Amino acid sequence: MKSIGLLKSKIVVVPLGEVDFMLVNRLATDLGPVFNRSVDILKGMKMPSEAHNVVRNQYYCMVILSKLERLKANSREKVLAVCEEDLYLPEENNVLGYADMLSGTAVISLYEIRQEFYGLPEDDSKIYPRLFKEATHRIAHLFDIADCRNPKCVNYFSQMMPDIDNKTEKFCDICKRQLVGSV
Ligand SMILES: [Zn+2]
Repeated sequence: MKSIGLLKSKIVVVPLGEVDFMLVNRLATDLGPVFNRSVDILKGMKMPSEAHNVVRNQYYCMVILSKLERLKANSREKVLAVCEEDLYLPEENNVLGYADMLSGTAVISLYEIRQEFYGLPEDDSKIYPRLFKEATHRIAHLFDIADCRNPKCVNYFSQMMPDIDNKTEKFCDICKRQLVGSV
């Protein structure tokens, strides 16, 4: 009998542009057990220049996602890119990241996650947990799990940094049950 693990879709983590590879590598390692599937980390991809909006001096999430989609080895793979650039969607000033369930692709930026964004001294102990929680939240979305209303759940819809800092790194029981059913 085949192991169920073989049927599960892979997660692919992509360091996008000039980004701290150690941080992304650590993230890729930690995501595997969370979603109980294998995680590949790619060597890296250049930030697509077409994504750059000169007027806003920001990068458009949707252009990035369309590039990520081309990296997929099969339609079921989930691709997450991590970058340092300031990201936007047309209806928002700036976003921490974006996940598109249909294409199975997501991007997150460390831009707002870093303390410098708030004029505060850099604090490494804060950066990784924020990145991990955001990545977990976005990937859960790729597996068709909607935002959670439990403020302690890692899948809680958190746009403000205090909300992200305040939630735990774990899924609540409801999200956990949904996750078990996902392939
Ligand atoms: Zn939850």
